[in-house]
Amino acid sequence: MKISWNDFVEQCQNCQACDLAATRTNVVIYRGSVVAPVMFVGEGPGATEDEQGLPFVGQAGRLLQLLLDAQGFTANDYHIANVVKCRPPENRVPTDQEASACKKLLGTQILICKPKIIVLLGKTAYTLFTGDKNAKMTQIRGAFIEKNGYLILPTFHPAYILRNNNERIKLWKDIELVRRKAEEMGLIAPLPVQPDMPTERPSSKG
Ligand code: URA
Repeated sequence: MKISWNDFVEQCQNCQACDLAATRTNVVIYRGSVVAPVMFVGEGPGATEDEQGLPFVGQAGRLLQLLLDAQGFTANDYHIANVVKCRPPENRVPTDQEASACKKLLGTQILICKPKIIVLLGKTAYTLFTGDKNAKMTQIRGAFIEKNGYLILPTFHPAYILRNNNERIKLWKDIELVRRKAEEMGLIAPLPVQPDMPTERPSSKG
């Protein structure tokens, strides 16, 4: 059945499919564009995201945004979402039950937005898409896989990179790879110049 974006948003806002509904301030659905060619899928909202109702607006989000901006992505190019739309208390990893309760909504979101490339930020998103719980991100990141007509790229979660700054170049390379693939596929216009990796660290304020 076809559902409009507005009906989808309403469905998310009324969702009571798991216990996270009881403790949320906001249902965190997306930021970016609903017709973007590239979708990023993280794990779940943290405190700042829960407060603002937008994904990746806390410290990990600032790092992601820094890399997206540096690679010349605009908000028309990406759609950012999460495995779960409500904050797990204490920022814990969503349980299997919570992830599977929310999976239908993410599936609908993908069907409506029709991204061509899906970037999986971290293990929780990778496990949801592949069912593989044992994969090591260090081994699987940076290589596209094709699934159900989507090009999927697993990479590190930005929060992991904040804790392991020496791995930062790898997330940078993966975002660069997404940029190149999207250009190659004619999904976004080529950049006139090759960007340099930003050296500043996102501030931890806010
Ligand atoms: N981490 C996530 O996985 N998602 C967010 O929205 C913020 C932090």
